[in-house]
Amino acid sequence: MLFPPVFADIFVVLFGLLAGSFLNVCIHRIPRKQSIVLPASRCPGCGHPLAWYDNIPVFSYAALRGRCRSCGTPISIRYPLVEIVTASIVLWHWIVFGPTPLFAVRVVFAAALIVLFAIDLAHQLLPDVITLPGIVAGFACSWFLPPGPLMSLVGTLAGGGLLWAIAEAWFRLRKVDAMGFGDVKMLAMVGAFLGLKLVVLVFVLASIIGGVVGVVLIATRRADMATRVPFGTMLATSALVASVYGDRLVAWYVSTL
Ligand SMILES: [Zn+2]
Repeated sequence: MLFPPVFADIFVVLFGLLAGSFLNVCIHRIPRKQSIVLPASRCPGCGHPLAWYDNIPVFSYAALRGRCRSCGTPISIRYPLVEIVTASIVLWHWIVFGPTPLFAVRVVFAAALIVLFAIDLAHQLLPDVITLPGIVAGFACSWFLPPGPLMSLVGTLAGGGLLWAIAEAWFRLRKVDAMGFGDVKMLAMVGAFLGLKLVVLVFVLASIIGGVVGVVLIATRRADMATRVPFGTMLATSALVASVYGDRLVAWYVSTL
């Protein structure tokens, strides 16, 4: 071995921090329909362009104490949080998958989930520019990696079809839109990456998390029955768990039957 494994881990964490920094740009700009490439990052308060040393993940936020160098506008805590969360998730994938092609694919999938989570939380929106290319990417990768093209295709149809049917039934019953169709496309994307078995697991997990969060919010009077819960955040959390531990969870569940 050329390098002790700890160097690889450090490299993975640094890569994760930089990736998180890029995801922050996506989270800020995609709902505003701005380019994620140009222009370079600016302070949203005063438009002051950020120098490279103001753009170092986590450290710049700490050094500037969460304020713009030029005008003092507070910088959202979301920036260092997304960077730390992304780095942790990339390291977690590295530990579980190791240096494999599946690691690369699942990290890209996780990146899409992080962006969808943050945008859904802030804007109650799951943009097509992430979910639709996500469906194509998941299906394309399935020709070389799990779950295989057939399961990927069936997973896409089942994931999208399930939520579409629920939205349609809810609409006929209550005459209100329970979900935006963003959720439908997002679960279709999850199905494309993870296949039929795991997309069912993701739906079940997300519904359980959604139920628990809903009960807690209603009990603490932060919401009532009519509050629209951003279901995409729960789909993202569940899909991340299923992507890494799904096969083990399903095997455990089957063994208890
Ligand atoms: Zn500023």
